[in-house]
Amino acid sequence: MSMELLSLSCNHCGAPLEAPKSANYLSCQHCGSRLKIMSSGGAAWTEVQEKIEAIAERQDDMAQDLEIIKLHNQIEALERDWDRYRDKSMIRSKHGREREPSVGGGMFSMIVGIVGGLVFFAMSGGAGAPMPFPLFGLAFVAFGVFSGLHSMKTGKAFERSKQRFQSQRRSLQGQIRRASHTDS
Ligand SMILES: [Zn+2]
Repeated sequence: MSMELLSLSCNHCGAPLEAPKSANYLSCQHCGSRLKIMSSGGAAWTEVQEKIEAIAERQDDMAQDLEIIKLHNQIEALERDWDRYRDKSMIRSKHGREREPSVGGGMFSMIVGIVGGLVFFAMSGGAGAPMPFPLFGLAFVAFGVFSGLHSMKTGKAFERSKQRFQSQRRSLQGQIRRASHTDS
């Protein structure tokens, strides 16, 4: 019983070779190159295995570079979105100072509103003063409570968004570090 043999030549030194049709690899008896048997459309030839590995490695490197570029782009897009949102959310004072909305800031403005309203109430003579001064003071207190609660809610949403942004960015940065370190 004879095995069907392929006639090949060494891709490195050109020596004629034979290999069983079912084989995927062979070594050249002449130069010792490790060869992979390639076939396409009825034709068969050999390729030096080291060369194939080098190409595969280069393709891996390229895929890795592309992955890192993609991650950098994602970080940039994330930062752009965050800057836009932050810019829109900033609280600007009359003197041009800016601050980020926060729960603490909302609480502070509520306390200022309540204290201011109570001071006005007391200075206008308290409950015994002529109308409508006491009502102004009480309205001031109520406004302080409502606007303070609103600021606290806004501050909480902002703080949560900031945490989400930071953790997403950290995770992307970690992915870049891992992708860079799989090298060599
Ligand atoms: Zn050879």
